Amino acid sequence: MLAMETNIQIAIDGPAGSGKSTIAKAIASQLQLTHIDTGAMYRAVTLEAMERGIDLSNSAAYDFLASIQVRFTNNKIYLNEVDVTTKIHRPEVSERVSTVAAHKVVRDYMVQIQQQAAAEGRIIMDGRDIGTIVLPNAFIKIFLSASVEERARRRLTDYHAQGIDMNIQTLIDDINKRDHIDSTRNINPLRKADDAVLFDTTNTSIEESVTQLIELIRQRGKEHGYQL
Ligand code: C5P
Repeated sequence: MLAMETNIQIAIDGPAGSGKSTIAKAIASQLQLTHIDTGAMYRAVTLEAMERGIDLSNSAAYDFLASIQVRFTNNKIYLNEVDVTTKIHRPEVSERVSTVAAHKVVRDYMVQIQQQAAAEGRIIMDGRDIGTIVLPNAFIKIFLSASVEERARRRLTDYHAQGIDMNIQTLIDDINKRDHIDSTRNINPLRKADDAVLFDTTNTSIEESVTQLIELIRQRGKEHGYQL
């Protein structure tokens, strides 16, 4: 029997609602990889900051970071060992997360724990700066895109499934605002890595995207001698 590789890294980036987390989760389950959703980690820190009532725009107010624990395991996000998976996707967190994620002190802390988490095992990690900053040596980097209208429609479906009423135009505005902050911030902005594969999901279902991407990952993996 061939020995399993000890470290395999796959990076997935893209703007809000491009399908990153859903697609990464499905790929992880089919290829037996560990999935790490870094957006969920930034959302958990945002939730903590909101609960502490700090001024989110003040970098100096994030000195609590060293005393909290953020962990993503089995598709659930834990903040100080409490499952906050549902709470972090509420609109009031979505509205504020890009402000929190723009601080250098927050990003330095997050990148460090993400790199530690990826140092072992078979990892698929999704976010905004994974291919460019967190996992620059990932053997495959995928950048997902989709039209803003399609991304807003997907978010609307998610909110309705959670019983949250939402207006499509509000979602389009929120996504545009977040994309703008994420791609124009000074530190680690949302950007396609030069060596990333661009994959548009506007007219491709999540299932079909997963099938096509798995094929691509397996092909590329073969060139590296990986068993996937
Ligand atoms: O992926 P998701 O939409 O849940 O991410 C929420 C927010 O977290 C993004 O809009 C962005 O501001 C921030 N983020 C980031 N870097 C990452 C992942 C997420 O700045 N690697």
